[in-house]
Amino acid sequence: MARQVLWENPPPDLAARAARMVARHAGKSRRPKVFFRADDIHEADPGFTRLARIFSARRAPLSMAVVPAWITPEKVSGLLSVCKGAPDLWCFHQHGFDHENRALSGKKAEFPDSRDQEAIRTDLARGRERMEALFPERFDPVFTPPWNRLGEKGLVCLRELGFSAVSRSFGSHPDPPPGLPDFPVQVDLHTRKETDPGQAAAALFRELDEGLERGLCGIMIHHALMNDAAFDFLERLVGQVAGEESMEMLHLGDLAKRASQPVSRGTL
Ligand SMILES: [Zn+2]
Repeated sequence: MARQVLWENPPPDLAARAARMVARHAGKSRRPKVFFRADDIHEADPGFTRLARIFSARRAPLSMAVVPAWITPEKVSGLLSVCKGAPDLWCFHQHGFDHENRALSGKKAEFPDSRDQEAIRTDLARGRERMEALFPERFDPVFTPPWNRLGEKGLVCLRELGFSAVSRSFGSHPDPPPGLPDFPVQVDLHTRKETDPGQAAAALFRELDEGLERGLCGIMIHHALMNDAAFDFLERLVGQVAGEESMEMLHLGDLAKRASQPVSRGTL
């Protein structure tokens, strides 16, 4: 995938604009929740290491969507050694099975409804088994579908397989079945489609504003597409959010746990 125009030629005031927006929402009475979700995780390459350090330095939680077919025991031990200490910060969860596009046409999807339901269930289950085997005690049964797309069949299978939550894009359809909350990402930092950096920045801030306003703001990261400008911006954004007492940073496993506790359901 090509690098993003926003980060090749970033407007100079990006981080300051983000800081102002975060501060504005932090001053409101309702405490917004923020989570960061990094996709396509499979090995501790230099980009991953740099990403993880941004979060660990600020004791900020990170949800990591791991592709089961891309990992090996060696790669997992590399990931875990970068994420050593403070296990509560890291949410290792499942990102598809092999991240291959199986849509017959149109937008990419690994689990389109055009696939046989049994084939979907088999791939979801073997992905989960692999995650449980390679991340013993560390796997969170949350599912992020590749390209954020998952239809009716896949959602039903996730519920049957005992997943605790799914994370797609904000506004995704269809709704998940009862008992499978969707904690969507709303802010896309690194796979934007705009060709003009100013327009990309405006759209990015609109997403951030809407997510914070809604009270649950999911921010999507693709570290393989990040350059220095993208890392610098992320570092400042994470620092800003982590520094706001009146904002709550958590990961998808935390959100799923809370959703399963009736007493706090009304706060999500
Ligand atoms: Zn992906």
